[in-house]
Amino acid sequence: TASALKDIISHAKEYGFVFPSSEIYDGLQAVYDYGQNGVELKNNLKTVWYKAMTMLNDNVVGLDASIFMHPLTWKASGHVDSFNDPMIDNKDSKKRYRADTLLEERAAQLEDEGKEAEAKALLQKMAKCLDAGDLEGVRQIIIDENIKCPVSNTANWTEVRQFNLMFSTQVGAVSEDASLIYLRPETAQGIFVNFLNVQKTGRMKVPFGIAQIGKAFRNEIVARNFIFRMREFEQMEMQFFVRPGTEMEWYAKWKETRMKFHLALGIPATSLKFHDHDKLAHYANAAVDIEYKFPFGFKEMEGIHSRTDFDLKAHQDLSRKKQQYFDPEINENYIPYVVETSVGADRLFLAILCNAYTEETVGEGEQEKQRVFLNFHPALAPVKVAVLPLVKKDGLAEKAQEITNSIKFAFNTTYDDGGAIGKRYTRQDLIGTPYCVVVDYQTMEDNTVTVRDRNTMTQERISIADLKEKIGYAVSM
Ligand code: ATP
Repeated sequence: TASALKDIISHAKEYGFVFPSSEIYDGLQAVYDYGQNGVELKNNLKTVWYKAMTMLNDNVVGLDASIFMHPLTWKASGHVDSFNDPMIDNKDSKKRYRADTLLEERAAQLEDEGKEAEAKALLQKMAKCLDAGDLEGVRQIIIDENIKCPVSNTANWTEVRQFNLMFSTQVGAVSEDASLIYLRPETAQGIFVNFLNVQKTGRMKVPFGIAQIGKAFRNEIVARNFIFRMREFEQMEMQFFVRPGTEMEWYAKWKETRMKFHLALGIPATSLKFHDHDKLAHYANAAVDIEYKFPFGFKEMEGIHSRTDFDLKAHQDLSRKKQQYFDPEINENYIPYVVETSVGADRLFLAILCNAYTEETVGEGEQEKQRVFLNFHPALAPVKVAVLPLVKKDGLAEKAQEITNSIKFAFNTTYDDGGAIGKRYTRQDLIGTPYCVVVDYQTMEDNTVTVRDRNTMTQERISIADLKEKIGYAVSM
């Protein structure tokens, strides 16, 4: 379903998935809150990821490190010196843009006009300037291309400046004693600095991995596309420590494992692809993205990186604490190499929501109508079952309540007796509830209920005694 992003955004808002942050004050750019259904979906995604990582793979254990870390952490990782985006301001509108994004958009425009060679040349020229740290050169390209600010429509640009994406704050009560610390821009470093703690206390043998879910913060200049690029977001990262020289085998294995994960969540293969990095970050010797076909094109959802021993070595140098592992199989000490998998919980959420959003025509002739439903994998759906008494009278409501109470701790169940049954089905379709259990007059006689399937809209009659087991099975991964 190639639905427009705006339909997804309004659906997410209207049905309690995602709200703009502090909306009564007109929101805060690139910050969002997850509503009553969003939090369920997001928690389900995190649980499935965490279980897949730690239970399906040998030798992967969890961690929950703090958001605040010693400031030297970010010196060692390279974030203090080079976690920058080049930005430029328009003097008339006072609007700030990423210089590279302005040029990438120009290149995309040229491509649309069929001028592919020109587009490529432009991107190459920009990459050359950025690599050389030639910010004046980047500005010159923007001027030469006569790129105008979309707000003021003028080309009156400031110089290009490097802008660090890390948020900082102070620890300590008295300003003189306070020292600058950062909100982590990635969760990975919390894993690196705990590598030996986990290895020793868990008696872990290389190869092994550490998986973690947590918040990360980046002061993104260009924040757009809803929850695709946020200033406060959540990452699900795993660092896998391996013997140097074996990293490419593990890189290949994790590529495959991670792609299978997304397929298992119900994303079709045609909406996913690998995208190899042409240009590698300073810490990597191989890197690939798993891209999802968002309504605004194929874009990165997850990164898989072979990070060598860059991070552990940098931490060893700066902390002067050895970050070595003694490998009993080869009788050698070494700093392990690392293969990382890093997926944004919010980006995965957006992909799952886009993928689930379905518009279809049902019925025929006079009866024909449009319906919208969210086709979530049952294990991911915020609500698994809605129990609906056909009517409130004659004890049906009480019976339905009783059924609800008997299953509600096993899986997320709601009870709804408000309005016509068709309306109640629709409400559940719109939030992606896979099953509606209906209590009718026959229920009062033989203790059976009907179970309506969200996708096929067909009904099956089953015994109440089988409900917990059958639905429990259907909503598991
Ligand atoms: P991008 O190029 O889109 O900025 P990145 O390459 O900087 O992403 P990484 O640093 O590799 O991203 O982070 C790993 C994952 O974290 C990404 O694949 C993405 O899913 C998620 N992520 C990164 N930045 C953001 C953000 N601002 N908002 C939401 N998710 C993000």
